[in-house]
Amino acid sequence: MQPVTDRNLQLFERAQNVIPGGVNSPVRAFKAVGGTPRFVSRAQGAYFWDANNKRYIDYIGSWGPMILGHGHPAVVQAVQEAVLEGFSYGAPTEREVELAEAILQAVPSMDMVRLVSSGTEASMSAIRVARGATNRPKFIKFEGCYHGHSDALLVKAGSGLATFGNPTSSGVPPEVVQHTLVLEYNNVAQLEEAFALHGKELACLIIEPIAGNMNFVRASVPFMKRCRELCSEYGALLVFDEVMTGLRVALGSAQSVYARSIPGFEPDMTVLGKVIGGGMPLAAFGGKRHLMQQLAPLGTVYQAGTLSGNPVATACGLATLREISKPGFYEALGQKSQALISGLQGAADAAGVPFCGDSEGGMFGFFLFDSLPQNYARVMQTDNQRFNTLFHGMLDRGVYFAPALYEAGFMSAAHTEEDIAATVAAASEVFKLL
Ligand code: PMP
Repeated sequence: MQPVTDRNLQLFERAQNVIPGGVNSPVRAFKAVGGTPRFVSRAQGAYFWDANNKRYIDYIGSWGPMILGHGHPAVVQAVQEAVLEGFSYGAPTEREVELAEAILQAVPSMDMVRLVSSGTEASMSAIRVARGATNRPKFIKFEGCYHGHSDALLVKAGSGLATFGNPTSSGVPPEVVQHTLVLEYNNVAQLEEAFALHGKELACLIIEPIAGNMNFVRASVPFMKRCRELCSEYGALLVFDEVMTGLRVALGSAQSVYARSIPGFEPDMTVLGKVIGGGMPLAAFGGKRHLMQQLAPLGTVYQAGTLSGNPVATACGLATLREISKPGFYEALGQKSQALISGLQGAADAAGVPFCGDSEGGMFGFFLFDSLPQNYARVMQTDNQRFNTLFHGMLDRGVYFAPALYEAGFMSAAHTEEDIAATVAAASEVFKLL
């Protein structure tokens, strides 16, 4: 039941007057699922409270960054101390060096890293480095993978765009995307064909190794192995967009998960965001030394940022990294994700609802299908009506899952067994309505 005075609705109406769609990022508008977006008033641990003071178990966690849950005391303290020292200088600081070192330690395929403020900037810049280093124009991306909203990457991107049914954004001239090849995820034959046709002109292949922008779809091991082999054979760079998976599915990120099955596996470049900033605007891109040395001021590939390496954001990121590097952190997190998925599976089975799910570390996804989808087209065959009933049923019961069927879910260290049990109990009721 909505209260007589719905503050969420009041705020949404006010917001729509001054902010396009009432939101500063499209998926927040609930356009896919309908209804009123919840305006968050505060958050702590695994929960946030909306403008009506209703509590939700939060499985979004700012779309990934809040791996420790909200308001972790060590992170709050680090941020408070940093704020007292200063907000931004536009000059280098020791903390940037410390964070760069900590990131390279977690993800050792990179020799050097540059800090930026958003995943969009980071992936756009990684592609610029790849093009600069190879002196080639073209690159491959996959349908259903999202790499931020820079012009050349807005080609059949997943995430918010999918809701509006636009394969590309208006405002992007065709010339800008003429070098972007969009292929089907997990399709080895198509990948081989693309390399045979364009391999010598390809600067890079950019991929979400576990795609979180079409819910949760893993690149199969044979597909990933072929991506690596073909990139090496044709001199194209393999760029891992780990904005979502980075330090979320494992400390070593998704690349460490693939290295378990493909000995010696490494991408040439990696894009990070979300977790490394712990909820502050911070992202990064990095890779092999000779590639990163292409960047200004050393080389001729230009990239810059007024707020890059921001002292408050780096303090937040460093404190977060310190906590997640503690022994056993990812084992405990991974067990919680598994417990949630198997609990939901049990509830769906009991209600006779087709269901399947998957997880890795603190990232998970589930589908109203009998088997896991392998690509975007299959994900988008989800029955919208059923998904929306599930979403709103859970929301009414105080559980906040992604308000779109093509988004992943995020577990935090703050979620308890009781939270997971309460989520499964709510799902048991809601599955019966489907
Ligand atoms: N890459 C991936 C894999 C993402 O999930 C996102 C954002 N969800 C981005 C890039 C863009 O990051 P940002 O929103 O910080 O620009």
